[in-house]
Amino acid sequence: MSSIVIQTEGLSHSYGEGALKSQILHQLSFHVNAGEVTLLVGPSGSGKSTLLTLIGALRSVEEGSLQVLGEELMGSSERARMHIRRRIGFIFQSHNLVSSLTVLQNVQLLLQLKEPNQSKRVQKASELLEAVGLSHRLHHYPDELSGGQRQRVAIARALAPEPELVLADEPTASLDSKSGQDVVELLGNLCRDRGSAVLLVTHDLRLLKDADKIWRIEDGRVASWQPDPSQLNTH
Ligand code: ADP
Ligand code: MG
Repeated sequence: MSSIVIQTEGLSHSYGEGALKSQILHQLSFHVNAGEVTLLVGPSGSGKSTLLTLIGALRSVEEGSLQVLGEELMGSSERARMHIRRRIGFIFQSHNLVSSLTVLQNVQLLLQLKEPNQSKRVQKASELLEAVGLSHRLHHYPDELSGGQRQRVAIARALAPEPELVLADEPTASLDSKSGQDVVELLGNLCRDRGSAVLLVTHDLRLLKDADKIWRIEDGRVASWQPDPSQLNTH
């Protein structure tokens, strides 16, 4: 009994004005279920990041319907978009950790809105960092970690406020393939345990095996996609 956390209907998006106007997304209709890991694949420039920023309420919807966590984002106010953003965990290609804060402080930062009690914040952040295998790095700074470790901190940070939805834009792009697969497997397992949905943009076909559902976007159009089984065994 999966409920739907993202639903689009005829969603279109353009950049530019007048003669320079260029339509990037064409009448997209797709959905993402709660508690599932959904992958969005497609060539560079196909509009994946644009779609993710629309879903993440980081950009206004121009045309069509986009429902995220039960709220319609078409015509929504900035205030409504801010509320939606607080219910979403974001993970980007570069980890965006605060370099002057320790790993533990970086994760605690996102708990400040939700958990007023400092010692509970520390406990919760520590538990999450343990879940991502970094309990021995709590007091290190991001610069002292490997790329894979930094992305695992980014995962802990995104999950700290217990978001119902996690959006990840090419989170493995800067990692070697083994670390990339480990990071995505970890993210998928943590989110499934918590019943959160993950929408992950990637063009790394090795990640497909961890997905519950795959959508492919090409030339701004999206379709449900089943990879060829041989594509799942590329190492
Ligand atoms: P992807 O993430 O799949 O690589 P993007 O959503 O980043 O694709 O970009 C889709 C298209 O939109 C590309 O042609 C890109 O150049 C263009 N684009 C992206 N962001 C902007 C912007 N802020 N202004 C104008 N064009 C943009
Ligand atoms: Mg992109």
